Amino acid sequence: MDYLIRNARTILTMDDDSRELSSTDIRISNGVITAIGPQLEQDCEVLDASRAVVTPGLVNTHHHLYQTLTRAVPGGQDALLFGWLQTLYPIWSRFGPDEMRVSAMVGLAELALSGCTMSSDHLYLYPGGARLEDTIDGAREVGLRFHPTRGAMSIGESDGGLPPDMLVERESAILEDCIRVIDAFHDPSDGAMLRVGVAPCSPFSVSRELMRDAALLARDKGVMLHTHLAENDEDIAYSQAQFGCRPGQYAEELGWVGDDVWHAHCVKLDSTEIDLFAHTRTGVAHCPCSNCRLGSGIAPVRQMRDAGVKVGLGVDGSASNDQGNLMEEARQAMLLQRVAFGADKMSAREVLRIATRGGAEVLGRHDCGQIAVGKRADIAIWDVSGLESAGSWDPAALVLAGPRQVRDLFVEGRQIVRDGRITTLDLPRLIEDQNRLAARLGA
Ligand SMILES: [Zn+2]
Repeated sequence: MDYLIRNARTILTMDDDSRELSSTDIRISNGVITAIGPQLEQDCEVLDASRAVVTPGLVNTHHHLYQTLTRAVPGGQDALLFGWLQTLYPIWSRFGPDEMRVSAMVGLAELALSGCTMSSDHLYLYPGGARLEDTIDGAREVGLRFHPTRGAMSIGESDGGLPPDMLVERESAILEDCIRVIDAFHDPSDGAMLRVGVAPCSPFSVSRELMRDAALLARDKGVMLHTHLAENDEDIAYSQAQFGCRPGQYAEELGWVGDDVWHAHCVKLDSTEIDLFAHTRTGVAHCPCSNCRLGSGIAPVRQMRDAGVKVGLGVDGSASNDQGNLMEEARQAMLLQRVAFGADKMSAREVLRIATRGGAEVLGRHDCGQIAVGKRADIAIWDVSGLESAGSWDPAALVLAGPRQVRDLFVEGRQIVRDGRITTLDLPRLIEDQNRLAARLGA
């Protein structure tokens, strides 16, 4: 179906010239933006945007969608990273395929309403017969562009690792399943709705050999690599004690830097590691709310951006956020840089660019992330006629004031949200399913 988004009050294009257009139309045809300009021909479905700010869809570069079933778990609410994980591992070990699919749909629906059109996911445990396709099925139902990564853990408690033995897999089985899901689902083409990545959970839950083999496999298959890195002080201490080096050096030695790699958190990167990431074009998924929630620290995003590191935003899993609102995440990212470095160190416009085009670049999607002719039609339309926008002087109020939910959302030219409601789902029923599963887990 073709659409005309008519007479937008402001379009924040995030194109190469960072153009901001007023009283302008956008034409969408076959999933692509085909024209931008005033008073385009109205020979298709028309959406009035005269009371709206229009942006590219936001991009979420880090999530564990399964964790929407374990929000606000009492024993995990106030713990640091390692203690938090040890509280949650036994609960996650009771998951199965239904839990994976339903929780993914809940997380993606929440993201969609917050303006997100594309999300990655990092699924690193497969209890009860769960498989990566459980989340893929869920994403197809919701309709978001999806980059699931085949995560893994292989060092259990009995080998000195953090996770219980029941949640770890044999390394040969992990690599075999990576090959299976890449061959079955990965789509390298322009406009792809689904791309698969390879993602051992973290340096403290898999071996050096698996990190190296995963990198070799990903390069052989032409897919991206993702993991957690340098998340907090415990993480750095573990790296120095176990590997005798900092996380950046460990990553570099094992092939984990490059344009096809992105790392979550990177709160503790030092200036040498920032330079390494910049000159190798390695990406970072910045997750400010999760970093605050777990007390991990403030990622040096200002220094990363100044050095030329690719940075996107991630809401991270709902056990450590506990909400999945990407516009809220953008605001938090801006505030954290300001509290650490000063009020002039991160503007609302810059953080909005990180949330859209920045994320698309981190995920290797040069076909997405901006409103420009020829790019994919992933578009968020924000109603600025409501209470939270009343009295606003500037479209940057989107980050500073609100709204926090979209009016309309297009993914690949398909309308996923209309007038604030998801078109692809029976949302009350999904919420009921999710709460039933949470109750079964012992919530
Ligand atoms: Zn994470």
